[in-house]
Amino acid sequence: MSRSCPDCGKVLQPNNKSGYCAPHALARRNASPEQKACVAAARRDYLADPVKRAAYCASIRKGMENMSAAERQRRSEQGKRMVSTLQSPEIKAKCKAPETKAASAAKRTATMLHWCPADLIPTYRALSKKLASAQDAREALMPSIAGTAAHARRTVLNNQDAQRIRHERDAAQSY
Ligand SMILES: [Zn+2]
Repeated sequence: MSRSCPDCGKVLQPNNKSGYCAPHALARRNASPEQKACVAAARRDYLADPVKRAAYCASIRKGMENMSAAERQRRSEQGKRMVSTLQSPEIKAKCKAPETKAASAAKRTATMLHWCPADLIPTYRALSKKLASAQDAREALMPSIAGTAAHARRTVLNNQDAQRIRHERDAAQSY
């Protein structure tokens, strides 16, 4: 039986591992919070390097110089329109609205803490206030997150503990 991509119905090769066609496998990867956080971090690191940042700005400037006067004009007007829209009273009011702020905070949390199950986020926040760094808090929380290596280790240790306690109890009862 041949499998097909659930997003577009394209028939997949027998050796396909993702379960999706190439464009849809890529689209799903790019939409994942892990990937978004990774790309955002890479861009931040790239632009934090003054040499790379200067090269990036120079390439943009060069692109601008190669642009026709009409295209420059078009973009400049588009930019001005965008600024006046962003500064309109309605948009400003919307940005200040508590529900907008709450939604953007929730989105930021989902991106930054994509590794953390939602029910553990309050625990993570408490830990990161108490411990020296966010990294320490994340590591301290790992054993509580199903699917991590730290969680698997803790499960094994818990099972060994339970077994030892059972053995000790049985031994005590047999005397
Ligand atoms: Zn597809």
